[in-house]
Amino acid sequence: MIAHNLGYPRIGSHRELKRACEQFWANKITRQQLQDVGRQIRHDNWLTQQQAGITLVPCNDFSFYDQVLDMSLTVGAIPERFQALRDQPSADWLTLYFAMARGYQQNGLDLKAMEMTKWFDTNYHYIVPEFTVDQSFTLLSEKVFEEFGEAKQTLGNVAKPVLLGPVSYLLLGKEKGEDFHRLDLLDRLLPVYEQILTRLQSQGATWIQFDEPTLALDLTDDQRSAFAKTYRRLRSEFPQLKLLLASYFDCYGSNLELALHLPVDVLHLDLVRCSSQLDDILNTDFVDTSMGLSLGVVDGRNIWINDLAKSKATIQRVVDTLGTDRVFVAPSCSLLHVPCDLANETNEQGLAPEIKQWLAFARQKLDEVVTLATLVQESDNVTANVAFAVNQSAIEARKTSVMINRPAVQQRVRQLTDQDAQRQRAFAERQSIQHDQLQLPLFPTTTIGSFPQTDAVRLNRAKYKKGEQTLEQYEAFIREETEKAIRWQEEIGLDVLVHGEFERNDMVEYFGELLDGFAFSDNGWVQSYGSRCVKPPIIYGDVHRPAPMTVRWAQFAQSLTNKLMKGMLTGPVTILQWSFVRDDQPRRDTCLQLALAIHDEVVDLEKAGIRVIQIDEPALREGLPLRRENWDTYLNWAVMAFRVAAAGVEDHTQIHTHMCYAEFNDIIGAIADLDADVITIETSRSQMELLDAFSRFAYPNEIGPGVYDIHSPRVPTVQEMVELLQMASNVLPARNLWVNPDCGLKTRRWPETTEALKNMVLAAQTARELV
Ligand code: GLN
Ligand code: ZN
Repeated sequence: MIAHNLGYPRIGSHRELKRACEQFWANKITRQQLQDVGRQIRHDNWLTQQQAGITLVPCNDFSFYDQVLDMSLTVGAIPERFQALRDQPSADWLTLYFAMARGYQQNGLDLKAMEMTKWFDTNYHYIVPEFTVDQSFTLLSEKVFEEFGEAKQTLGNVAKPVLLGPVSYLLLGKEKGEDFHRLDLLDRLLPVYEQILTRLQSQGATWIQFDEPTLALDLTDDQRSAFAKTYRRLRSEFPQLKLLLASYFDCYGSNLELALHLPVDVLHLDLVRCSSQLDDILNTDFVDTSMGLSLGVVDGRNIWINDLAKSKATIQRVVDTLGTDRVFVAPSCSLLHVPCDLANETNEQGLAPEIKQWLAFARQKLDEVVTLATLVQESDNVTANVAFAVNQSAIEARKTSVMINRPAVQQRVRQLTDQDAQRQRAFAERQSIQHDQLQLPLFPTTTIGSFPQTDAVRLNRAKYKKGEQTLEQYEAFIREETEKAIRWQEEIGLDVLVHGEFERNDMVEYFGELLDGFAFSDNGWVQSYGSRCVKPPIIYGDVHRPAPMTVRWAQFAQSLTNKLMKGMLTGPVTILQWSFVRDDQPRRDTCLQLALAIHDEVVDLEKAGIRVIQIDEPALREGLPLRRENWDTYLNWAVMAFRVAAAGVEDHTQIHTHMCYAEFNDIIGAIADLDADVITIETSRSQMELLDAFSRFAYPNEIGPGVYDIHSPRVPTVQEMVELLQMASNVLPARNLWVNPDCGLKTRRWPETTEALKNMVLAAQTARELV
């Protein structure tokens, strides 16, 4: 039996790679220094895995930015616009690589970065390959060979190069220009993969891991036959290489037959996301084939310890049917999606020892994989048995801990009925009540919540956190910032004001810190894209709101103005989506617990005199399952959670929601079901295309399509925003329209923010006169 791994975090256990990249971009370190940091991280990762007892260790899982971009460079899929950069004598491959990832504005060139999008249902983002109809491919980069060479030096012959498989590589890309399908390019692409395999083989590689995660998606017949064709061809040309094919994040599902018949040596199964597929496989004539199974039993997407007893039983069952030689033990997917090492969490104020014993980061997951393989093969191995005993006592403690279990919260969720998800009257009636009471003009203007988080704001927060400033000093500073923001909003004539969110570090962490059931790591960083890392809160127990969270600040802000002040909350689905969520109950239940906490906050805000309350749900779409057949189940509880959060108030209280970051065309039905009185939504990057979808759907409630893109410092003109508003009022009733930017302004600076919002108010005034 072989213990192996699919991929290891490459940011370094103290984010060394992030720092090095950012210093390199700022010209503070040389290219050589950056490469040294990369080499060191790879070396450390390989040794860590080998010393843990992993017998097949991945290589080429390292990346300076993104593994899909690495593949584009390797196969020479460089978009045409970068040719000008390649022509410059000074341009080396690293400059080209980062230009593709981040754009390039230097030496008289202005090259747009390639697009970035989410990697399946993770919070990792990859660089989308661009293909043209006359696309050609050539082997352009030595990365995979160099890294295999290094790995071989460190490890010997057990290094296993990881390649994004050719079919998924194409499917994850996008066609540019003429009408064609990117899979048509397969015949041109495969020779490059063949060259790669030829060279790896001559370097001494025996195992190759092909990642083909698109096998977890709904595929067409054409796409399926592309897989069959590809692997038949690679198999026949490389009979001596051992091929391991990995898909993850969901079941093979309707692609299982296909996968089982691909001529590869080992098929990897994500048994965390889909344990049922094991029976489907063991009950077929698969047993009589020679294919091995890689059992992904250790969760590569979450941070909880494995239940070793359960996993051991699963592995044993497969071993009983197939024998040990055909069985591999592994994490469910690459460990890229979890933090590096729990050993770096030494601050007991952060992670209490009781919680820490329930957690496993990447380093600990290696031990779990090895322990499982050992337990099945050498039942009397002392180390493995000690680890097993420790693990089982932690699993037991977790089931009964009073830190986790709050019967009252659980009961409240069980007792939820449809009634609890229902405002008192239907929207049309609420709307006329609200119009009477709030007395807003046509095209009311507002913003999404946050204002620039200036250096001063960050500095004061950091000082307060380090104890260099008292709570009183810190809060006095925040009050000042808030007051300035309010005066300024009044001056330019915005209709519904916000307090600016200066007291918040992050829209999820801020609430997590005020809720029971959340814990925070000091070092639990996970790569989100390039050098950007996130540190998701950990929801370990039943969620409970011990005290109001935002009321004091909202009340203070409202007391400073006669204008309407929006209360500002993060919604239950978004908090869920951007946290590590407990795995001992369905996500739905955790989400409804969050919904009840937000519900109580909404009710308290209303009591405190706040008449407009926004519940942000930018991550609603991100939670969608990979396969369409599972969408409805998710959307049902996600929508229910939002409605529970919003339903506690009187009909004259206006509930807003906000969404951004994604295409919403295919979930407009669910968005309408939220029944928010107003939604503000990112649209300006799609030039209001989204509005067509809303109008086709006859979206009934009020809507504020973003009239300018906050991602760039560019100040929009009055005229262009008037035009957008006219476009909007051509397709939706004018009385339903709001005027606002695409998203919060925390990443902007004050000068462009004030200019842009002044113009926005002028645009609304002009538009009012035009109707
Ligand atoms: N209210 C939040 C803000 O303005 C919303 C952020 C978001 O949508 N991501 O920053
Ligand atoms: Zn937003």
